[in-house]
Amino acid sequence: MKYVSTRGGGEPIGYKDVILQGLAPDGGLYVPENYPKIDLEFLKNLKDKTYAEIFVAVNSLFVDEEIELETQKQLAEAAYMPEKFMDAKNGNITPVSEVNGRIYLQQLSLGPTAAFKDMAMQPLGQHLNYVLEERDETLRILGATSGDTGSSAEAAMKGLPRVSLTMLSPAEGMSAFQKAQMSMLSGGNIQNLSVTGHFDDCQDMVKALKRTPEFADLGAVNSINWGRVAAQLAYYFSGYVQACGEIGKEIDFVVPSGNFGNVLAGYIAKKMGVPIRRLIVASNENDVMHRLIQTGVYEQQGGAHVTTSPSMDITKASNYERVLPDIFGNKETAKKYMEQFDSTGRVSFEDFGAGIDSMKRLGFDSGASTHADRLESIRWANEYGVVIDPHTADAVTVARQFAEHEADDTPLVCMATALPVKFEDTIAEALGSIPARPKRYENLEVEASEIVGFAATLKADDLETLAEWVRKLN
Ligand SMILES: *Cc1c(COP(=O)(O)O)cnc(C)c1O
Repeated sequence: MKYVSTRGGGEPIGYKDVILQGLAPDGGLYVPENYPKIDLEFLKNLKDKTYAEIFVAVNSLFVDEEIELETQKQLAEAAYMPEKFMDAKNGNITPVSEVNGRIYLQQLSLGPTAAFKDMAMQPLGQHLNYVLEERDETLRILGATSGDTGSSAEAAMKGLPRVSLTMLSPAEGMSAFQKAQMSMLSGGNIQNLSVTGHFDDCQDMVKALKRTPEFADLGAVNSINWGRVAAQLAYYFSGYVQACGEIGKEIDFVVPSGNFGNVLAGYIAKKMGVPIRRLIVASNENDVMHRLIQTGVYEQQGGAHVTTSPSMDITKASNYERVLPDIFGNKETAKKYMEQFDSTGRVSFEDFGAGIDSMKRLGFDSGASTHADRLESIRWANEYGVVIDPHTADAVTVARQFAEHEADDTPLVCMATALPVKFEDTIAEALGSIPARPKRYENLEVEASEIVGFAATLKADDLETLAEWVRKLN
């Protein structure tokens, strides 16, 4: 299995190199040269497997022979060990359950930091460490976060001998819970720095430091890393097998979306042969992808709306570029299309010879929700005995819109991407009270206030000081 850039430049490379690199040298994203295909027999064989086994069955098609199968199994066991997925019942770490009628939930947030990003970050950490060990190298990673990515990356990299991680986050804007989660993970090979500014300032500092020769080889774990996309495929296979009723019948997935990483994995599962009818993108007020899917125009927003589903507050959706080879059928057009987008912030399918319904033809559909919709969906789910977080509520809102207008009984499986404990203020606004916390989070903010979680607060632009901190970790 070789990987090539969506923009056609550079040489094909293997899985190990792909996870150590972020962007391709021509500015594109890495995608497999060809996607592997599976049949219904493959799906039937997954029925009695553990999640780690399903993960290896699917992920090994992309790792290929670069890592021995036996080793892949060990790394998957380490990524998904029961101690990290404490809230899972009967060992099912991505359980599907019915809410009402056609609407189901697939829980993806039972990992160490209570958001779906753990599902991919955990195995990516294991794979990175393994490859570095084999090459006798170390990797310093520098990242920026405004929410769930920070703690999830830290929980995955914590204690790995070959990797160190410095994470920048805005001094204002993250919830007390999210800051406390990161504080608790500080120390050893993990270091947290605050920046007086916004998320964009943090991201700009990361990019600026990487442009200096000394730090050109810093690693990245953001959602454009192919390793994260590949590691998300398995839960679509698991979700399908749990929700389909009978292997071969179609289902729909509804996915709360920001950077398009999660739903892209669903699309790839469909391409590989999982009987998924539609991938329904659920946006919040930041509805770039919803507008694209409905109108064929991809237009970056001037600035992100700050919403109560903050992990979806984006102005463009980076992983969308990975779908372009399927829309245009060739890489030259994809390259021109992205170059126009990068320079003007707006492109339309029609200007590049594709139909305005191109995304729908690939199986995508979409909807959007507002703050009021989220509150209403949290109350609706609560009537059936389930408390959902505001991101999951974006998906449930959109699923309810579809269910209302369609007369069929195909399951609409909504991805639950965070636990409500992370966003208690919005839950309180919707329900008038907050649900009991999982035991491990009972005193989180108090425990975190007793330690020095953030090493320093930097001024936005202060690259000198940032460089000093990054040098401290090997
Ligand atoms: C990151 C995140 C999302 C968005 O996922 P993408 O892969 O960026 O589309 C949705 N919900 C939660 C809780 C998240 O942390």
